Amino acid sequence: MSSKIDWSVALRPLLKEYKGKKHPLHAHSVYQSIVMVVLSAQSTDDVINKLAPELFAAYPTMESLAKASPEDLWPYVKGVRNFANKAKWLVGIARQFNADAPLTLESLTQFSGIGRKSANVILRQAGKPAEGIIVDLHVVRVVPRLGITKETDPVKIEERLMKILPREEWDAGMALSFLGREICRPKPECEKCLMNTVCAYYRKIGKSKAAPKSGASHK
Ligand code: SF4
Repeated sequence: MSSKIDWSVALRPLLKEYKGKKHPLHAHSVYQSIVMVVLSAQSTDDVINKLAPELFAAYPTMESLAKASPEDLWPYVKGVRNFANKAKWLVGIARQFNADAPLTLESLTQFSGIGRKSANVILRQAGKPAEGIIVDLHVVRVVPRLGITKETDPVKIEERLMKILPREEWDAGMALSFLGREICRPKPECEKCLMNTVCAYYRKIGKSKAAPKSGASHK
């Protein structure tokens, strides 16, 4: 049945629900976005939001970061997993970054520490047109549950989403991520979910396990 679902239509309510919602990383510039997204890999957004003010007070611009050594950053980022490598990547990015060059998926992914997911997030936060679809760990959990694809590899999930969705709906990645953060968590709350009418997991498993309807909305 899931193969018959037109996902470009089925995902519209989700896109509408989360349209324009800001990424949970509280970045206020492209510079801050790059730094925070690089630091956030394998860490939580909350941890990065907490350490960011002190880090940006010490290094307020890309230029100031370019003059630092990776070790200079350690006191600010030592609570983050893989912090030594991330500090090295950040200083490397700052030294190579050309503020006059167009900010694109290609220009961002040339840097160590920035993969497609990170680049897609940075472009979204910068208000640039989507060149790909954000596939983070939440999207990797939600998409197979919905039945859009059985793939669990982020690159293949992104390829699939890019194939089935028109470009103007490529913000679906962020919407799916919000759904995964709020409702479709490891233990999903299917009865509250606005996607449960089209969800393969809900049809097969979630419905039988779901708690009786509480009448709660999905927010
Ligand atoms: S219905 Fe359940 S499994 Fe399906 S997307 Fe919603 S929360 Fe996730």
